[in-house]
Amino acid sequence: MMPQIVQGLSAAAVLEVWEQGANRHPLDQALLLLRYACPEEPFEAMCEWSIGQRDAHLLALRRQTIGDRIEAYAECPACRNGLEFELSCSALLASAPTSESTWTTVQQGSRIWEVRRPTSRDLVEAISAADPAQARRTLLSRCVRGASGDVEAVAWTEANEAGLAARLGELDPLAEVLLDLRCEQCGEQWQAVFDIVTFFWNELQARSRRLLQEVDLLARTYGWTEREILRLGEQRRGLYVEMALS
Ligand SMILES: [Zn+2]
Repeated sequence: MMPQIVQGLSAAAVLEVWEQGANRHPLDQALLLLRYACPEEPFEAMCEWSIGQRDAHLLALRRQTIGDRIEAYAECPACRNGLEFELSCSALLASAPTSESTWTTVQQGSRIWEVRRPTSRDLVEAISAADPAQARRTLLSRCVRGASGDVEAVAWTEANEAGLAARLGELDPLAEVLLDLRCEQCGEQWQAVFDIVTFFWNELQARSRRLLQEVDLLARTYGWTEREILRLGEQRRGLYVEMALS
């Protein structure tokens, strides 16, 4: 499902989101951002979006707020050489799932199963589990069931757990974006996960700090209020900052 039209965050909204979401779990930060991205959408419904759907909306919000191009950085696991690379929100959005989250039939081992994409609500349940193995089982128990008419209780084994967890990943390619990276220095090749929630949140944190510095400077120079300064467009505010500094 491609996200509906998403409005970018205004300067004032960036500060509001950052203030409300600081020190919260990334799952909460993501839902908070969705509230701003889709103010018309009921909150309960957004909690039931698959993680891929959630991330598609966050990519659209990031594109509207900061721009399409993502400049990312990774460190080579072998030689620690830094690697800079570019991604694009639009290119990532192209792999968003095209349908709503519903049950799909898959074969795993000798059985037929019905699986659906995990949602924010499923992940909230999973992260409260005692350990990663328990978390995975919690997730599977919510998102996997025996095929209709199959009354036999689900017998979890190491093999079908791992297999079904992988099937969940295939259903929702945007839920875990894996990047194939290669170090120019030593030739090492590895896969890194790109997590839009953490990445975008860090950007918003940096932007908030910058905005507050600008408010501080312009308020002291011109006597304007925070609200007046945040209402200025990006370009005008930037020019006033330049003049205040010269
Ligand atoms: Zn290397």
